[in-house]
Amino acid sequence: MTALKVLISGSGIAGPALGLWLGRAGHDVTIVERDMEARTGGQAVDVRGAARTVLERMGLMADVIAAGLHEAGFAYVGRRGDVDVRVPVTAFGGDGIVAEVEIFRGALSEILRDAALAHVTERRGDSITSLVQHERGVRVAFAHGEEQEFDLVVGAEGTRSQVRRLAFDAPTAVRPIGAIMSYFSTPLSAPERGWFHMHSAPGRRMAAVRPNLDGGTTALLSFATGAGAAAAARGAVLPRTLADQHALLRSVFTGVGWLAPKLLDAMPHASDFHVDELAQVRLGGWSRGRIVLVGDAAHSPSPLTGMGTSLALVGAYVLAGELTRAAGDHRIAFARYEQVMRDYVRRGQQLPPGGVDGFLPRTRLAIGARNASMRAMTSPPLSRLMSRVFSQSDGFDLPDYGRP
Ligand SMILES: Cc1cc2nc3c(=O)[nH]c(=O)nc-3n(C[C@H](O)[C@H](O)[C@H](O)COP(=O)(O)OP(=O)(O)OC[C@H]3O[C@@H](n4cnc5c(N)ncnc54)[C@H](O)[C@@H]3O)c2cc1C
Repeated sequence: MTALKVLISGSGIAGPALGLWLGRAGHDVTIVERDMEARTGGQAVDVRGAARTVLERMGLMADVIAAGLHEAGFAYVGRRGDVDVRVPVTAFGGDGIVAEVEIFRGALSEILRDAALAHVTERRGDSITSLVQHERGVRVAFAHGEEQEFDLVVGAEGTRSQVRRLAFDAPTAVRPIGAIMSYFSTPLSAPERGWFHMHSAPGRRMAAVRPNLDGGTTALLSFATGAGAAAAARGAVLPRTLADQHALLRSVFTGVGWLAPKLLDAMPHASDFHVDELAQVRLGGWSRGRIVLVGDAAHSPSPLTGMGTSLALVGAYVLAGELTRAAGDHRIAFARYEQVMRDYVRRGQQLPPGGVDGFLPRTRLAIGARNASMRAMTSPPLSRLMSRVFSQSDGFDLPDYGRP
C-alpha cells in the first residue's frame, strides 16, 4: 500500500489514537494541535466495552489502568451529605454510570500522545485556517502562515470542530441538550475516600465532587437551562468572560446546600476551570471527499452518555483499519468506516433514561423518585437486567484488522 500523507487536526483522544494506528501502518502523519501545552487532568472519563479492546490492541491498557482513578462508585447525597443511594463500580457488570476503567481525560490523552509520538510529527500551538480540495489532495493553510499539501485531512477537534466548520456545510450539527456543566480542581478532600458524591437540588441543579489522585477533588457544577430550571438558570446563555461565567454559576447555585458554597469559593482559584454548554453532534455524513471527521467532531454523544471517549477510540481504530483494508482508497474506506460505526454511534448517542430531566430533576419529589429508581436498579433482579441494557448499548462487534 502506498503511504498516505495525512493531517490530523486535534490531539485529544481520537486524534492521537488515529495517529498511532496510521503511523504504525506506515503512513506519513502530522497532528496539529491548537493548545501549546497538553492539558492534564480535566474531567474523568470512562472507557467501556469495545474501547477497552482497542486499548488492549494498542498495547496501552496496562498504562491506562496504572493511571486510572480506581473509584469505588458514586453516591447521591442529601443537603447535609447523608448518602441516599450508593452505586458501587461493580454494579451493572462494571459498565454502569461509573465504569471500572475511569481515567482523567488529560491522562488518557497523554498516554495516547506519548505512544503516537514515535510514529507521527506533531505541530503544537497551530491550527488550520483553510482547506481547498482538488483531485489529488487537499491544500491546507495554517494559522502560522505556511501552506502544505496532504492526501487526507482528519478533523478530530471535538464538538466545536474547525475542520467541520471549514469543509462541511452543517450549521446545525451541534445540538445543545439544554444544560451547562463546569468542572475544576479543588483542594477540598473527598467526603468519602474513593467515592464520587453528587447532590441534586430543586431547580435542576447538581453539585458533585470526585476524588483526584493528589488528595483533592474535581468539582462538577451542572444546571439545566430549560423549563423548571432555577430562576437564574432559565434561558441562561453561556457568557464569554471568565468573570461572567463565575458570576452565572454563583447566582445559579445560590441556596444550594451540601458542599456547594465551598465549591463556589474554590472556583475562582482553580487554574483549570472549564465550562461548556452540553451538546451532541449529529451529521448526515462524516466525510466530504478527502476530508473526514472522527470522535466528538463527527458524533459527540454529550458527556451525559459516558460514551464519547469510547466512541472516539473505536472510531479511530475503525477508520485506520478500513484505510488499511481498502489499501488507502479513501472513498471505499470512508464509506465502510461510516457503515461499521453508524449503529454503535446511534446507540451511544441515546441519553440515559429520563434524559437531562433524569440527570437534573426539577423538584424535591422528582429527586426522591430518581433516587428510588436508582436504588431499585441496583437491587439484585433489576441490576442483572440493567447490566444487560448497559452492555447492549456499549456492545459492538469490533472488526479485527490485524496488527499494523
Ligand atoms: C464533564 C465531562 C465528562 C465526560 N465524561 C465522559 C465519560 O465519562 N465517558 C466518556 O466516554 N466521555 C466523557 N466525556 C466526553 C469525552 O471527554 C469526549 O467524548 C472525548 O474527549 C472526545 O475525544 P475527541 O478526541 O473527539 O475530542 P477532544 O477530547 O475534545 O479533543 C479535541 C482536541 O482538539 C483540539 N482542538 C480544538 N480545536 C482545535 C483547532 N481548531 N485546531 C487544532 N486543535 C484543536 C483540542 O485542544 C483538543 O486537544 C466527558 C466530557 C466532559 C466535558
